[in-house]
Amino acid sequence: MEQWRIFGEALNPGERLNATIRVPMDGLSNHGEVLPGTREGGAYELPVILVNGAKPGKTLLVTAGMHSGEYNGTPAAIQAAREVDPQQMSGRLIAIPCVNTSGFWTMYPRVTPEDHFNFNGQYPGKADGTVGERVAAFFVKEIFPQVDFILDLHGGSRGERMTPLVFFPTHPKVREAALSAAKAMNIGFLIESQATRGQYSYAASQLDIPGLLIERGEGYFCEAQWVEANRKDILLLMAHLGIIPETGLYDNALPRRVFREAIYLETEKDGLWYTEVEKNQPVKKGQRFGTLQDFYGEIIEDVFAEMDGHVLYLNNGLAVPKGELLVAYAVADSET
Ligand SMILES: [Zn+2]
Repeated sequence: MEQWRIFGEALNPGERLNATIRVPMDGLSNHGEVLPGTREGGAYELPVILVNGAKPGKTLLVTAGMHSGEYNGTPAAIQAAREVDPQQMSGRLIAIPCVNTSGFWTMYPRVTPEDHFNFNGQYPGKADGTVGERVAAFFVKEIFPQVDFILDLHGGSRGERMTPLVFFPTHPKVREAALSAAKAMNIGFLIESQATRGQYSYAASQLDIPGLLIERGEGYFCEAQWVEANRKDILLLMAHLGIIPETGLYDNALPRRVFREAIYLETEKDGLWYTEVEKNQPVKKGQRFGTLQDFYGEIIEDVFAEMDGHVLYLNNGLAVPKGELLVAYAVADSET
């Protein structure tokens, strides 16, 4: 077998390598003040663990840390990439434990601090654009052509309670491959997604590369149980794709439910949000999710379920400026 050439590195079959991806930022005017995650000399740096199997097979891309603060995917990607045995592998793993490195080190919420770029909503980026645009364009040009499947790990934002769930793309050419992979993991809520501008959803809808997005963990905490669950799901997915042998990690007892879509309710006005539901709770059409009030205790708006569904995640903080998420709920099962 030939060497695997990627990111300026070369790996023999059966090798693992810790490397750095450098996305060129030359000539970028707003890059003058060097932020964490970037380096003098004009590159944005991302850590990557490359694992080249002894035998040929599929290539899985695992990414985490796209939204800073959504931590539980990062240690999981590191652990899984370090523990798989390349000698026993048929295929390859590209594990990028942190995509938004400048956001990670500045603890800047969600987007890139340099240009407020959202990696889960502004693909495909632009090679001569701003910092985030260039990183996204690098993924499209240099990484996507090398991969057969994408797993992107997220979690709840600050103040968010969340039920672990996985989004799979609706695009007909990849839907079945993604859904069967989702069913091979230990996650109970499988939600069909129409998104097309995020990393995995762009690759799915525009390039026919199947992929999944896991949301697990909440409130910007990094907790061992969520890291461990993510680690197991990475290994289960690798086994499903035939990259590693069977793991024995599959939870037969876990009920798995497929939902055709999620509804996201956002506030249209600044307010103090008092929620009346819990995560992972069934709701009926017309049921009140909560109430938005002002600083005087006067009601601005009561927020109700528009149809029967199941609460996936919700804002459990108080301050909700205009445009902030209040609650996300899944709509009636399409299949199980
Ligand atoms: Zn996220």
